[in-house]
Order: sequence, then structure tokens, then C-alpha cells
Amino acid sequence: MGPAILVQTPRGTRDFGPQEMHRRRIVEAQLRQVFASFGFKEIQTPTFEELELFTAKSGAGIIDELYAFKDKGGRDLALRPEITAAVMRFYFTSLKMEPKPLKLYYFSNCFRYDRPQAGRYREFWQMGCELIGDPSPVGQAELIALAVQLVDAAGLKNYILRLGHLDVLRAVLDASGLSKEGRKELMRLIDKRDVKGFTAALPDAADRDRLVRLFETQDLEGLRELADGAGCDEAVESVAVLLGRLERLGVDPKRVRLDPSIARGLDYYSGVVFELDAPKLGAEKQLLGGGAYDLSDVFGEPSVASLGFALGFDRLLVALEAEGAALAEAPGPDVHVAALTEASMDAALEAAARLRRAGARVELESTARAPKKALQRASQVAAAQSLLIGDRERESGQFTLKDLSTGQQRSLTLEQLEDQWRPRVAAGSQARPPTG
Ligand code: AMP
Repeated sequence: MGPAILVQTPRGTRDFGPQEMHRRRIVEAQLRQVFASFGFKEIQTPTFEELELFTAKSGAGIIDELYAFKDKGGRDLALRPEITAAVMRFYFTSLKMEPKPLKLYYFSNCFRYDRPQAGRYREFWQMGCELIGDPSPVGQAELIALAVQLVDAAGLKNYILRLGHLDVLRAVLDASGLSKEGRKELMRLIDKRDVKGFTAALPDAADRDRLVRLFETQDLEGLRELADGAGCDEAVESVAVLLGRLERLGVDPKRVRLDPSIARGLDYYSGVVFELDAPKLGAEKQLLGGGAYDLSDVFGEPSVASLGFALGFDRLLVALEAEGAALAEAPGPDVHVAALTEASMDAALEAAARLRRAGARVELESTARAPKKALQRASQVAAAQSLLIGDRERESGQFTLKDLSTGQQRSLTLEQLEDQWRPRVAAGSQARPPTG
């Protein structure tokens, strides 16, 4: 045997204990319900893809951010850093004949060689969606309302949705009279949200004031002023219509702020773009980002206008925790079953098996225990009720079910015990009989 080593989780990854998994699963279920309520269907793509999928979409520079590797057959592969590229690959290889628009959502782990910090990990989960194939303006409004409803459903209190339009951003930059190179550099600084660098890089052009206002504009009136004479009136008016539709779809206007400086980095984005922040989280406050895009060029396919967003699931949980949201505790078993004698062990096994089939969550004590010890164990595992099976119970077929919160006891047959759960399971609700 070699020397003993203490192996840690790889940097930027985490173990999740039972309580944390319980919370994650509850939030996940709340989010899934929202996607379903908007008519989105879940899909799943592979954890790793051909490296080329990501370099074709984002350029060779992305390799630094990837877990890229060669497999034993010499293929260049990468763990997915995001899901949109994979969904579009799936679409172009298998789904393009489906009636459009396609409404797809996913919940998957992603991997980025990021510098780990609070809310930033090397393995993290994204829940997101793509509305593929000619999303109408109404479809766009719906998708953004869906993004807001997700964080609402999870119970987040402090958040703000920022909404921009790339046609406005590009028109304002184009109208500045700067060279193509100059505009590109400003775009890079905008995308990095480097306001200082941006301001420093601005020439003393007549349009300097307007360019600074990219970061200051927050409402429709401001957007109209910003865009005045830049030749993007249509885009501005589409934002006005979108704001009205969001309100009709139940989005509180106080939650929405215009932000013409959202760039979303990549060339294939166009039109409406949006981000959702939990302002209290500081540097890693962005919970969600999305927009309208067309990836058809990457795949050499005819144009397919699409719209999507990705929610950082881990960050949503960090935000909920920072707000002190009442987080659900993982429940203990419904019943703790213990044999009091070795001779009663078979009866305990049978009772546990029958209760489990009836839908109860059962913790079976693996060795025979004295009553006091058995009850101690039942409360240790936070069981709601305790079933002690001794020789008398085994012989009479009458079992004593003790409610551990009230101390109340009931004498029941195995059939009656099963009936405590069976109807509830049939009705599709949580298997936990009323106490008392
Ligand atoms: P992006 O694909 O970069 O637009 O990211 C979408 C969302 O995923 C972001 O808004 C974050 O909430 C989340 N996210 C991105 N990178 C990380 C990371 N390294 N760790 C945790 N969450 C992340």
C-alpha cells in the first residue's frame, strides 16, 4: 500500500451534503414547474462535446477557459462550458424538421476553468432555455417574463432585470464617428463592463457625452434621447412595445431597468439582450443572461433566429441564502421500524417492506434494540413515527405506532398501517399520515 493521502475535491468543485441537495432539489423543482407552465420541454445533451463546437462558436481564445482534452482515440473534446451551442448542434442534427418555434429547456452541469470565488466555480449548474425558430416579439416577451418568473418562484426578493438592444448599442457606436477599430475596442470595454477604461478610452469627440450615457440610461425616455438621430428608432420602439408586453405578462415594471450597455460579447447576438442581477451579491451578482441570437453560420446552415437565456443555478442559491430565505430542511423518515428481539427481526423486515411499498419513507434499524435505545435512534434520525416490533406484536399482528412529536400511540394491524399511506400515494401527495 502506498502512503495515505487526503484527497480533496478538485479546485472550484464542491461536494453537496444531504441538506444542501434537498434544498437544491426543491429549488430545481420550483424552476422546472415554471418552465413547464410556459410550455417548455426538457432536453439533455452530452457532458462533453467535440472541442470544435465551442471554438467554432466562441473562437480559439475560449480554450483557455475550457476543460479540453484528448481522449484515447486522439479526439479533441471539451467538457461543456455552457449549453446553448450543444442545443443548437442538437437542433441542426436532429430537430430542425420539428414544428417551430421549439421551446426547449435544460438543467446541466457546466465546466469552466474560471478563477474560483464565492458564486464562481469550475463546475456549476445552468438551467436555461432556447426558443428556436423565428421567435415573435410576443415570444420574446414571454421568454423574458419566464426568466423573471423563475427567480420569483424560487422566492428571491432583491433582483433587477436589465434590458438592452444591440441595434441601439451598435447604432450609438456607429454614430460616434470612431474608426472600426476604435468601436471594437469600446465594445470590448463595454462587454467587460469596464466603465473606467471605457471613459478613459473615449476620444474628445462630439459624441463623447452620448457614449457616456450608454451606462447611465435606465428608462425609455432616456433611451429615446440616447438614440436620437442614431438611426435606430425601430429598435427603440420595439423596446417600448416589449416593456408594455412584459407588464401584461405580470412582470412588475419596478423590476425592469433599461441598460443599453449590455453587449453579451459574441457577434451572433442581435436585437434584444437581457441580464438579471441580485445586486447584493457584489462581483458575482449576475444570475442570468440571454438574448436573441442566430448560430446558423457556425453550422453552415440557413438562418434560424433564436432566443435564449441561462440561469446560474448555484448563484441563485447563493442569492437566496444571502437573503436568509427560509430554506427547507430535508425531512426524516416517516417511520422508524425497530425489532426488539432477534426473533422479531423477520417481522420488522416484512413490516418495513410493506410500508415502503405503500409509499412510506422507512428507516429500518439493522439490529434488535431495547425499546429505550430504539426510540433514541428514531429521534436521532428525525423520524415522525416509531414502530417497535417485539414478540408480542409479532404473535398478535397488532403493532404500536408512536407519534414522536405528540407521544400518542395507536394500535394497528399491518393492513391498517399500510392504509395510512396508500390513499395518499394514490392521490399523488406526500406520504405522511396526519398525526393523532
Ligand atoms: P453565461 O453563459 O456566461 O452568460 O452565464 C450564464 C450564467 O451562468 C451567469 O449569469 C452566472 O449566473 C452563471 N455562471 C457563469 N459562470 C459561472 C461560474 N463559473 N460559476 C457559477 N456560475 C456561473
